[in-house]
Amino acid sequence: MLTNDVDHLDAILFTHEHSDHTAGLDDIRPFFFRQGDIPIYAHKRVVCELEKRFSYIFESVNKYPGAPGVFVNEVNNDQTFQLGALEVIPINVYHAKLQVFGYRIGNFAYLTDVKTIDEHEREKLKDLDVLVVNALREEPHYSHFNLEEALEFVKEINPKHAYFTHISHLLGFHEEVEKHLPENVHLAYDGLSLEVN
Ligand SMILES: [Zn+2]
Ligand SMILES: [Zn+2]
Repeated sequence: MLTNDVDHLDAILFTHEHSDHTAGLDDIRPFFFRQGDIPIYAHKRVVCELEKRFSYIFESVNKYPGAPGVFVNEVNNDQTFQLGALEVIPINVYHAKLQVFGYRIGNFAYLTDVKTIDEHEREKLKDLDVLVVNALREEPHYSHFNLEEALEFVKEINPKHAYFTHISHLLGFHEEVEKHLPENVHLAYDGLSLEVN
């Protein structure tokens, strides 16, 4: 956030409760000091998990003044919501047996920790300019797409551009891997920024 000069947070969209996707919540402190409660969006189950792990953030009685605060918005499947001028469409996917939300905003969609996604949800991903999706490694994994599954998924969804994320060190070096990807498929990297409209 410091490197990328982010000075304002409009909202935080949670995908699921795993720590690699939630443990940074405490770091919203400097944004909270300037902006007040930060709107968060998550499945009800994920909100319950966050309340357990970050009880001091959700405290309503005798809240410590230095603790950050959030404004909770529950996300339900097939219920779009508005973020300023942008409409957000939740995409329901599965991470082995765990439900996870991806999000579509305009012609951009962000999906992580996907292993399976049903037909009804695939329908929501038509005509994308940019699809971000997980590709863990070459070896199969029980709860994440591997490279082959991610490539197959991109082929079916057919966005103008796809960026792979949630990459393990086992996938290999950036330049080497990119050489073997189709022209419209790229590896995402720290600091990549994409225009959403
Ligand atoms: Zn996960
Ligand atoms: Zn993860």
